[in-house]
Amino acid sequence: MKRRNFLSKTAQATTYTFFFSQLYACKTKSKFIAPVGQDYNMQMIRNGVGYFTERGGTIGWMASKDGIVVVDTQFPEQSNHLLEEIDKLELGNVDLLVNTHHHGDHTAGNPVFKDRTDMILAHSNSRKNQIASAKKKGTEDDQVYPTDTFRTSITQKVGNESISLNYFGAAHTDGDAIVHFENANVVHMGDLVFNRRFPYIDMGAGANIENWIQVLDKSINTYDDKTIYMWGHAGAGYEVTGGIEDIRAFQNYLEKLLDFGEKSLRSSIPLEKLKESTKVIPGAEEWTGKGIERSLDAVYAELARE
Ligand SMILES: [Zn+2]
Repeated sequence: MKRRNFLSKTAQATTYTFFFSQLYACKTKSKFIAPVGQDYNMQMIRNGVGYFTERGGTIGWMASKDGIVVVDTQFPEQSNHLLEEIDKLELGNVDLLVNTHHHGDHTAGNPVFKDRTDMILAHSNSRKNQIASAKKKGTEDDQVYPTDTFRTSITQKVGNESISLNYFGAAHTDGDAIVHFENANVVHMGDLVFNRRFPYIDMGAGANIENWIQVLDKSINTYDDKTIYMWGHAGAGYEVTGGIEDIRAFQNYLEKLLDFGEKSLRSSIPLEKLKESTKVIPGAEEWTGKGIERSLDAVYAELARE
């Protein structure tokens, strides 16, 4: 689902104002005064579930009479922006915070929620990776870790909505949770899909390209054709939401990356030379931008360990 984003900040603010005035009107019937000049974009997807983008991995949220759920936290400044907006609805505290995985652009805002929620849920490997990464970087004081973890799947009720988390195996890391708002039928894929943008493949945290392809199959088979998905990241001009065809397109990127890596290794092309000469992965030319070298590093590392 490709859509060039020609919206200026002013136009985004208008969309945003419209959306929140609708929500706010439902709640209080009072006039909503929209913030102006904000750098973030907050959009409703369906049934009180939406997304927030500013800096870092896309945040998913639910703000409705059922309660408040937040999926991922970007950085503290961004989490504060999100909560400022949600708090205008006067719905109270956050019932559930989920981390899709441990990366800083998805968890660095966790401290903002420390006194706002009793439950931060993530895969057990995500918690383990967050601790290990913070120790390595010396950022332990800046972390707030998950309070609860799961291994295969877990479902949490918030009001009448059920939020189910699935883990289908190593992919972007070894702790990626897929989050399904069941009634809204909206899924947050975390960083399991980079929409038309070169992915980060965190081999140091147990990533696995071959298995990632299978994980995407399992996702497609678990949800249905009405499901609306959100992605952790999208290339410039591409949406952070989409459907099965976008998952298939990213799956194709990973398959073509593996093919290209195998072919290059068979031709004994040194990694450094490959990184210098490769601008796109043959057969997946929609993936552009910065960071192709991270894919090439990862595919050579994965093939070397087989
Ligand atoms: Zn990530």
